[in-house]
Amino acid sequence: MNYDQILQEIKEEVKIYNQMGAVGSSIPELTKVDPSKFGIHLVTIKGENYSIGDSNEKFSIQSISKVLSLSFAFTFLGERIWERIGVEPSGTPFNSLVQLEYEKGKPRNPFINPGALVIADMLITHTKNPKTEFLNFVRTLTNSDEIDFNLKVASSEKAFGFKNVALANLLKSYCNIENDVDEVLDFYFHQCAIEMTCNELANCFLFYAHEGKILHNNKFILNQSQVKRINSLMQTCGFYDESGEFTYKVGLPGKSGIGGGIVAIHPKKYSVATWSPRLNEKGNSVLGMKSLELLTTKTGMSIF
Ligand code: GLU
Repeated sequence: MNYDQILQEIKEEVKIYNQMGAVGSSIPELTKVDPSKFGIHLVTIKGENYSIGDSNEKFSIQSISKVLSLSFAFTFLGERIWERIGVEPSGTPFNSLVQLEYEKGKPRNPFINPGALVIADMLITHTKNPKTEFLNFVRTLTNSDEIDFNLKVASSEKAFGFKNVALANLLKSYCNIENDVDEVLDFYFHQCAIEMTCNELANCFLFYAHEGKILHNNKFILNQSQVKRINSLMQTCGFYDESGEFTYKVGLPGKSGIGGGIVAIHPKKYSVATWSPRLNEKGNSVLGMKSLELLTTKTGMSIF
């Protein structure tokens, strides 16, 4: 497969959409990003890397971190996670309070904010230094010590994340948060504030395409069954209430974030990350969605 040529074609073909959408405004620090940035990085399970555009510039991974925090929790809690969180698509925005109330404090899935807050609570309960241990987990997956939190983004969200504060308190009122609410929020705002390049993000997620094994040392992070479950969750819940649309158009499991990043997995083939900050009204990157639709169309390969 000539991925170099395909990525070049994609870069040309998505140009007509590059004024569509707007940079997410819920976290003031994120509005400072240049909206014209655009990059793609694809890495195969043979370790071949292909990229175009701004693929070596850091951006805020935001909700993409929810897949990583779930995976970290899975390594020590296994199926016990599902006693406190469901596995169904929500069909509501990622920070909706309404559904959480009528479902009595059990979040629909781990990729909406209340689900990720419960995962954050689990990590705080089960680790000594939650932020350091989580960061080390992500660094191990990526094989890079350069991965870090952007502290300005974390404090910007802390100052304006009123809905997350409300969600955490609602969860606490249903006894689905064990630790101090402020501690859970602080961890959550930091995990979302991790920065990566497309190159780092694609390589970090490669183990989901490689049966749970890190490519460079063949070490298992998750077993095959756990990887199947996480990829399934990305497929059904990875794109807010646009997960059906992404599945229909792209046909791969993936996850997006309001920083404009998207990562998608082709099991046993590749991991691919895109970044373009302009988002559609559902919160997904316009150029990222278009690029991945073109990728699976041009390669003629999806999981279906
Ligand atoms: N930190 C963001 C929030 O909680 C993440 C949102 C996202 O990327 O979907 O609002």
